[in-house]
Amino acid sequence: MRKKTLFLLVTLVIFPLLSQSVQQVDNEHVIVGEYRDSELITLVFAGDIMSHFPQVKAAYIQQGDSFDYRPCFQYLKPYIATADLAVVNLEVPLAGKPYSGYPQFSAPEQLADGATDAGFDVLLTANNHTVDRGGKGIERTIQQLDKRSLHTGAFRSQAERDSLYPLITEVKGMKIAVLNCTYDTNGIPVPKPFVVNMIDTAQIRRDVAKARERAAEFVIMCIHWGIEYQTEANATQQELAGFLARAGVDLIIGSHPHVVQNFSVVYRPDSTQVPVFYSLGNMISNQSKRGTNGGILAKVVIDKNTCNIQYCNYLPFFVYKGNLQERYQYYLIPTVDYIARPQDFGIGNTADLLLRQFQDDTQARLSNLPMTLDKFTRTDD
Ligand SMILES: [Zn+2]
Repeated sequence: MRKKTLFLLVTLVIFPLLSQSVQQVDNEHVIVGEYRDSELITLVFAGDIMSHFPQVKAAYIQQGDSFDYRPCFQYLKPYIATADLAVVNLEVPLAGKPYSGYPQFSAPEQLADGATDAGFDVLLTANNHTVDRGGKGIERTIQQLDKRSLHTGAFRSQAERDSLYPLITEVKGMKIAVLNCTYDTNGIPVPKPFVVNMIDTAQIRRDVAKARERAAEFVIMCIHWGIEYQTEANATQQELAGFLARAGVDLIIGSHPHVVQNFSVVYRPDSTQVPVFYSLGNMISNQSKRGTNGGILAKVVIDKNTCNIQYCNYLPFFVYKGNLQERYQYYLIPTVDYIARPQDFGIGNTADLLLRQFQDDTQARLSNLPMTLDKFTRTDD
């Protein structure tokens, strides 16, 4: 009964609001295209970048004894690279050789090249695998990411955290803060002097306040939480989402369950709506159980003048393991692109059925959100 009431609320309050905004954006786009680009800020988020050992093997390039993950992202890149800010969770340390998969990962740093080449601007480092390779793993991950992209979540020391956190980045003149924390590090203590952000409500309150002091106009919390393989957020996540909204966070993006979870909205006492994507599923992995073989890109569009969210939507994609263009790889395929032109991919009958199942399941789970994928401005650069 309670669930039904919440669903109705979400449907009645958010859906019309989002639909109207989409309509307005369309009109602006059609009538004054320039306005759309200059006044709106597009944020894109993706879930967990995993690195199971078969993925490492698939990315290996004998020539030069190196790795290349760029083909994995090639079909999704047009949807990521067009965002003003794109954020993804790097669930594995870049700890150097020997490379390892589950349960204690070390991935080649070329994995980060694949992600940044696809258009991701910020890589998140606070998750349950951050300490898989100890302090050395954290140190090397930070060192490798420093050369490639913005990143946040794990730090070499408290002093480094004090100076670099919250991460605030300026997008089209708007200051956006990206916060990141995790429920745990698989029971492995964080070695001193390293710091990995944990879910600590008192600390989060101080971090949000610090972001505002440093002039952040929009605050995003990317949080590693929930129970693996559960498709609905649990009570702990819902309570935390309420807390985060009240603490002043404007948008909540979850990861960790390895499946897409439901979308909801939480309210501040002043009735401000705070969208919650409870889990975006996997970005890339070797997992194949129903629901783990894909993920979503979440898109959130902000009006930069008011700092208000205009609308949210999402793009499902399927992780196809196999040969395309005569190369075996883990390919992220936007399901709508595939369904529109399956002949362009040629993934075979079994993968075809799994891809369609993934899209149907995801659409059913996110039935209170539009899958208006054409609202992603796609460029084929
Ligand atoms: Zn995790």
